[in-house]
Amino acid sequence: MRQPTVRAWQSHLPSGAAPFRLTDLAEGGTLPRLWANRWSAHPEQRVLSAGADPTRFLSGASLLDRTAAAAAALARAGAGAGERVLWPAASSFDAVVALLGALRLGAVVVPVSATMTSHELSYLVGDVRPSVALVDRAERGEWIRAADDRVRVLPLPDLAAGGAPTGGHPPALDSASPDDDALIVYTSGTTGQPKGAVHTHRSLLAGVHAVRLAWGWQPDDHLILALPLFHVHGLCAGLFGTLAAGASAALFERFAPAPVLDAVPRSTMFFGVPTMYHRLAESGRAAELAPLRLCVSGSAPLPADLWHRLHHESGVAVLERYGMSETLLTLSNPLGGERRPGSVGLPLPGVEVRLADTDEGGVGQLLVRGPSLCRGYWDRPEAEGAACQAGGSAPTGWFPTGDLASVHDDGYVTIRGRLTELIITGGHNVYPAEVEAVLLAHPSVKEIAVIGIASDEWGESVTAVVVGADGGVDLAGIAALAERELAPYKRPREFRVVDELPRNAMGKVVRRD
Ligand code: AMP
Repeated sequence: MRQPTVRAWQSHLPSGAAPFRLTDLAEGGTLPRLWANRWSAHPEQRVLSAGADPTRFLSGASLLDRTAAAAAALARAGAGAGERVLWPAASSFDAVVALLGALRLGAVVVPVSATMTSHELSYLVGDVRPSVALVDRAERGEWIRAADDRVRVLPLPDLAAGGAPTGGHPPALDSASPDDDALIVYTSGTTGQPKGAVHTHRSLLAGVHAVRLAWGWQPDDHLILALPLFHVHGLCAGLFGTLAAGASAALFERFAPAPVLDAVPRSTMFFGVPTMYHRLAESGRAAELAPLRLCVSGSAPLPADLWHRLHHESGVAVLERYGMSETLLTLSNPLGGERRPGSVGLPLPGVEVRLADTDEGGVGQLLVRGPSLCRGYWDRPEAEGAACQAGGSAPTGWFPTGDLASVHDDGYVTIRGRLTELIITGGHNVYPAEVEAVLLAHPSVKEIAVIGIASDEWGESVTAVVVGADGGVDLAGIAALAERELAPYKRPREFRVVDELPRNAMGKVVRRD
């Protein structure tokens, strides 16, 4: 059977756009240089404001000064270029200034989420061997010292107040090279031990230029940024994208529907994960999203019925995109063309996509390559690290995403779930995402996860874990729907009703739990 081909990334560029070379994506040197130039040229601009109080803001001039002071304080604490710095990924001004200061210094930032336990933090310290750890809670400092007493622990407020030890020359700023390491993101670890994906200044720059071009990001855009900054969605797309586009953002320390919707009249864009869109829809105020020019969803599948509900209530056609810590964002529905529910659209600028080992239904593993891929995993043997690109401006390796995908006849891509989640029952392949999408349409189902349970008879038996809607679960009704809509081997043989699905901090269902 002939496979449909994925459309080329040029589809994202407006027709009549100037000819565009792949190398353009890494132009501008590095993110810190781009930001510093922008802040110097527009010192008055209100770049970041506090979501809870928009009268509090950081201008270009204050970012330029405060990040330089933070870089100097970090250098005095012993964090040189190339050294790893643990960074508490909060959405406060102090935390963001520290992050940008570390990047201007050429240090390698390692985001630490606020939910990390002492055990997880101790693993991280042993793996990444930081020279300095910024902390926003004293207890964290103790955990880090217990894991390795050579790490210099620096409380974030001290750094912000310039209260670190004095002396020495101011460090060189913005002098990292494109191929120097900039950021190590530990993968969310829904399977196995977390690994640190290492991004260079080049891959970060390519990643932001790709979304800036595809989403027409302009200096007059104002983003509602309520995503956590320990993850690439909020950090590399939301924050770095805003700064690289010369635009502005409102920083929310956490997501809640009311404050986010209250910010809409002074904003143009919102980026969220599906759980946030679900809560916006449930708030009864989804219609208030209407004035935004762009609402983006990603990090987990956005159910098509939720897309339609939001569209019906607000007129907003949510633009779904796809990416990973290792690759940054790689596929997106187009800004200008059709935004298709249930699809992640087309490769972003600079990205190539293909499927490997497709089955008779055209489903195969998604492979991606492009300039936004990480250079490898931190301190991992070549074999594992080689999964990412070999480095440099020429993307060499195809990265196996571990996600299954199929391609529509017109070149749009649909994610069909993780390879490891594929259920093989009686020799048939069952893609949980397909079964979930069908059964979610039943009014008594609020949420659903379809998993394979080991079975002597079937190899794996299709099992649906269901969270009921307010009126309770109608299992007979759901089974009847499965019978109407799904081939017999895809129908769940067993249903389990639970109060809630186990999710990680990004709202992704942790299936092994
Ligand atoms: P992370 O590295 O934590 O960002 O997780 C990346 C994974 O999230 C991908 O490999 C996908 O399994 C999933 N993911 C991200 N965006 C989407 C999307 N739009 N639809 C379905 N899955 C997604």
